[in-house]
Amino acid sequence: MGQTYIKNAYIATMNGTNQVFKNGGVLVEDDRILAVGRVDEALIEPDAEVIRASGKYVLPGLVNTHVHTSQQLGRGLGDDVGLLTWLHERIWPYESSMTAEDSYVSTLLCCLEQIRAGVTSFAEPGGQFVSGMARAVKEIGLRAKLAKSVMDCGDGLPKKWRKTTKEELDKQESDLKKYHNTANGRIQVWFGLRTIFNNSDELITASKELADKYKTGLHMHVAEIKDEVEYAKKTRGATTVAHLEKLGVLDKNFLAVHTVWLTDKEVAMFKKHDVKVSHNPAAAMRVLGFAKIPLMYREGICVSLGTDGAPSSNHMDMVDEMWLTSLIHKGWRLDPTVMKAQEILQMATKNGARALMDEDLYGSLEPGKKADLIIIDPNSASMLPLHDPIANLVTAMHSSNVDSTMCDGKWLMRGRVIKTADEKAIMKEAKERAAAICKKAGIQLPDRFPVTEF
Ligand SMILES: [Zn+2]
Repeated sequence: MGQTYIKNAYIATMNGTNQVFKNGGVLVEDDRILAVGRVDEALIEPDAEVIRASGKYVLPGLVNTHVHTSQQLGRGLGDDVGLLTWLHERIWPYESSMTAEDSYVSTLLCCLEQIRAGVTSFAEPGGQFVSGMARAVKEIGLRAKLAKSVMDCGDGLPKKWRKTTKEELDKQESDLKKYHNTANGRIQVWFGLRTIFNNSDELITASKELADKYKTGLHMHVAEIKDEVEYAKKTRGATTVAHLEKLGVLDKNFLAVHTVWLTDKEVAMFKKHDVKVSHNPAAAMRVLGFAKIPLMYREGICVSLGTDGAPSSNHMDMVDEMWLTSLIHKGWRLDPTVMKAQEILQMATKNGARALMDEDLYGSLEPGKKADLIIIDPNSASMLPLHDPIANLVTAMHSSNVDSTMCDGKWLMRGRVIKTADEKAIMKEAKERAAAICKKAGIQLPDRFPVTEF
């Protein structure tokens, strides 16, 4: 692969002291970062690819810690409806009508959107086909934690999803054996729990044991809606978080998503067990509520950011999620000083890497780490001027300012052109498959305006 030398850039390293270099360089060799800041010219080989990045930023690739890649073809199926309609009439029929090939195309489309928004690594909480997702991730070049969404109980599940605890555990383990640490280590398999509504205690504790056994992570939607906490109290005798603690699964390899309905005491439980949090502000604003993110952040809990799935928040765009995070807590707390831009940038980079148990691999630009980085071109009417360059990355940037995305030392996008996939062909196939899945699932959305077709 050789060397790439990016010079004269504004570099936000996100290292231990969050050092920034003006007019600095990043030297990449194969899949690793060789030097950052002042780069010794003697290290640069004559045939290195040289990129003059004057006026541009270089940042670590963004980390999306919660994205349902298999739901990408379902974007728009859940707009303006209540949660039960969303789940029972739209998303479950849609997802349960998908094939592994659909999941592959859905994941490709989702990866395209993420690469364009500067993401280099993500965690998928679980579709039904790890095989389809893994194939897409391998081809397109991103880094991912994949999981099967397991369900062994609960009302109203589609027939083909009614599985025993053992079937779900066996499937997770066989997926892990097939795909864990494949694609030069870019793909890892995690264990995925849907929610306490659909997971028995036995499945929860056994999945945690397997995650420990294989030194991998456990991904779960936790205290997502108020009804969930009430349901847990009724069926388990404790709130979701208190019950998970009692089961002994709250731990440093536990990634809790949404975490909206937590008491201060439960926030303290997260801190005690070093639980990782994925905050998804767009999805939260739509139906879930406002998580206590400023408190969690102050307490030193590792809070990261995620987009959730396309039918939940429509934008699989981490740049938008950073912006929303900077706004919603200010409005909710009536305090414009909470959730500062530099904190949000940490959530989207190094906290994301920590949440995915990869802090030694990426999340910051440091010699020896994987070359997962992005170049930002701020020269657009919407991002200039740069009075406060770090703040602008959170408060003014759009994903269209992401110029180039590199993962594992390879350009996935260069100058806004996708290098690892045929974007047009993927979009064409995605449209066809999305329509076919809805037809198969019997989903037909009502027209919002009178339609005349010619
Ligand atoms: Zn989710």
